[in-house]
Amino acid sequence: MRNKVISLIMILLFLGVCLAGARKIKTDESKADASFFAMSTYVSLTAYGKTGEQAILDAQNKVEELEMLWSTTDEGSEVFALNHSNGTPVNVSGETGDLLRFALKMAQETEGALEPTIYPVLLSWGFTIGENRIPGQEELELLLRNVGYDRVFMEGNRVTLPDGMQLDFGAVGKGYTGDILVELFKEKGVKSALLDLGGNIQVIGTRPDGKNWRVGIRNPYGEGYLGVLEVCDLAIVTSGNYERYFVGADGKTYGHIIDPATGYPAESGLASVTVLAKEGKLCDALSTALFVMGPDGAVSYWRQHRDFDMILITGEGEICLTEGIKDQFSINNGYDDWEVSFIE
Ligand code: ADP
Ligand code: MG
Repeated sequence: MRNKVISLIMILLFLGVCLAGARKIKTDESKADASFFAMSTYVSLTAYGKTGEQAILDAQNKVEELEMLWSTTDEGSEVFALNHSNGTPVNVSGETGDLLRFALKMAQETEGALEPTIYPVLLSWGFTIGENRIPGQEELELLLRNVGYDRVFMEGNRVTLPDGMQLDFGAVGKGYTGDILVELFKEKGVKSALLDLGGNIQVIGTRPDGKNWRVGIRNPYGEGYLGVLEVCDLAIVTSGNYERYFVGADGKTYGHIIDPATGYPAESGLASVTVLAKEGKLCDALSTALFVMGPDGAVSYWRQHRDFDMILITGEGEICLTEGIKDQFSINNGYDDWEVSFIE
């Protein structure tokens, strides 16, 4: 009898463990995530719901497919073909055509602060190959003659780049990729997801518990996050010269965002620019362009457009936010002495 009771208890305990295990597996099943290296950065995708896992697998394939179109170094890519076309027309895919049309439109809107043809200048600073150097004034002037978005000719998806001109989607490609992934996730029925493409954040819906996503804003002067934004269904993209830069023999810091007016890394008085909007591609294009424009240029651009929000962190350590995100932003402990102001 005693043995039977013990057996019964054992069976119940076993069942309990199984049930608890089953419950745990169930919650795990409803969350899927993946991290991988692509487009020269870390990509991390998290999706909730039954279809999340399949959506993530498809998304990873899509990122790799787009990277193969836009890589500047892969000899099989469309961007490589364009950059080595010596002035002859090249037929590109719908995705490359769309991205190029968008980049050219934004170049025009930002009066060339976003400059998709800056690549030869970027190369001369050695950014893509990791062998940094400081090019001379004459060298830069010569290279800048081949820079000019208004000389890229498109007829549908047939593109002609003047001989010597080279393109680079470094400033807009990740944002556009994010938009394509958001569409893909939604088509698969995913209602809650967080996409992080090297710091370009795009969220779908809210968190599974119905609360807003909390996105950290990096301290451009050091480690950690200086504040948090609460958001849903949005893209949040930051540009700064604090991640990809080098220190020259002269002791100066040179960042990877180039001011197309000079050919030198932009030093406009901003440490970082974060842009918030529905579309990742708009955020990506603007974060780079506003960084080039500097605080005054960024504020006047915003006042003329007002179809996005932004956080500017100035060289003096001030935080300036557009009024629309006043209630969504909170400053972290330890940063209370930073000056916060609102842009109206
Ligand atoms: P990140 O790659 O850190 O997210 P950005 O979106 O600001 O940063 O893009 C910077 C990249 O864009 C550079 O690495 C370079 O490839 C390219 N680039 C640099 N300056 C410009 C510019 N003024 N206009 C367009 N592209 C640029
Ligand atoms: Mg950008």
